[in-house]
Amino acid sequence: AWPRIDIETNPFKAAFPLFTQHPDIAFLDSAATAQRPACVLEAQKHFYETMNANPLRGLYSLSVEATEAIAKVRAQIAGLIGAVDEAGKPRANEVVFTRNTSESLNIVASSFAPTVLEPGDEVAITIMEHHSNLIPWQQACRAAGAKLVYLYPTKTGELTDAEITEKIGPRTKIVACTQVSNVLGCRVPVEKLAAAAHAHGGYLVVDAAQSVPHMPVDVHKLGADFLAFSAHKALGPMGVGVLWGRLELLEAMPPFLTGGEMIDSVTEQDAVWAPVPEKFEAGTQDAAGIYATGAALDYLVNQVGYDTVQAREQALVHYAMSRMVELPYVEIIGSIYWDRHHGVISFNVRGVHPHDVASILDMQGVCIRAGHHCAQPLLTWLGVENLACCRASLAFYNDKHDVDAFIDGLETVYRTFN
Ligand code: PMP
Repeated sequence: AWPRIDIETNPFKAAFPLFTQHPDIAFLDSAATAQRPACVLEAQKHFYETMNANPLRGLYSLSVEATEAIAKVRAQIAGLIGAVDEAGKPRANEVVFTRNTSESLNIVASSFAPTVLEPGDEVAITIMEHHSNLIPWQQACRAAGAKLVYLYPTKTGELTDAEITEKIGPRTKIVACTQVSNVLGCRVPVEKLAAAAHAHGGYLVVDAAQSVPHMPVDVHKLGADFLAFSAHKALGPMGVGVLWGRLELLEAMPPFLTGGEMIDSVTEQDAVWAPVPEKFEAGTQDAAGIYATGAALDYLVNQVGYDTVQAREQALVHYAMSRMVELPYVEIIGSIYWDRHHGVISFNVRGVHPHDVASILDMQGVCIRAGHHCAQPLLTWLGVENLACCRASLAFYNDKHDVDAFIDGLETVYRTFN
């Protein structure tokens, strides 16, 4: 059964100023970065207009207000991802603000990994990882003399129990996986990977860049030890990321960057680190961006709601894929089942380079992504020609007209080359 949601009417687009400026575009690249609703842009402005001061650096009330605003967002995020204590109180100090998912994952690979990896140990990742959750592990393994082991799914993106049992064993110290693939759009069985990692005394790192914008995420239900995501894919500003980690792990790790605001005390030859999370937040933060991230997540979760987000995305994916399979020259990459695609549909047009597909669609106001999607090992393994493919990604603020424009555009692509 597919969700019978009205995707013809769109009560959301009006909230996004970019769509007012560009009423004719079909924006199908939200997996790269989402559009921002007016309330997020307003929040950013509100911060600078009413409470701008360097947080943590002053004892005057403006600075205190800025500091409190950031603390509030930290607690909001902890609550959102289920980082709460037994009484349900958010464990705000488990939330570290970074610049993006990439930086969050680099902190884990650079600061945490060396504390657990020994020569001969293994780090296991899936072949579906974005380079952000792949290259940091190559580096960590190289530095420690450890081995990077890959889990391979079926060609439709499913990780079997046999593959998990075979690849995760007593030597596995860290398992790092994406929750949703940015190319195949499929979900990865994170809970199973957590259980396998923990059974052997290992740790699980989750790249939630493509899941937090689309579905409820609970770090404890997933069995995560660390989890990373970016605000800009979840309607927030660019330049703000989150790293959540279990408190005892964050406390035991050395800092990643050093400098201002991450210390308790400094002498000529030494320094004592500030407690978590400040230990990982060297230098001035993007306070206005963090404040606006709070507004973005509030809009996503409390005003739109994950139920609506998911129902609309599923209906849109269903509609798009049912139209795409009618075009014999379009090859969908990954599962042919629409319910395996969480907002992302990768594809190629037979005989046409993905960059040409994207350029011709652009001439018709349709924005899609074409290239390697920062997942070269995956495209190599899939045997995708030219190591490139097209990707249409859908968000709740898209509608049937966007998909129709996309399908019309694909027909033009085909006619142009045949
Ligand atoms: N992981 C995944 C699955 C992604 O899709 C992306 C963004 N394309 C990233 C990590 C990196 O995010 P950022 O560029 O915000 O660091």
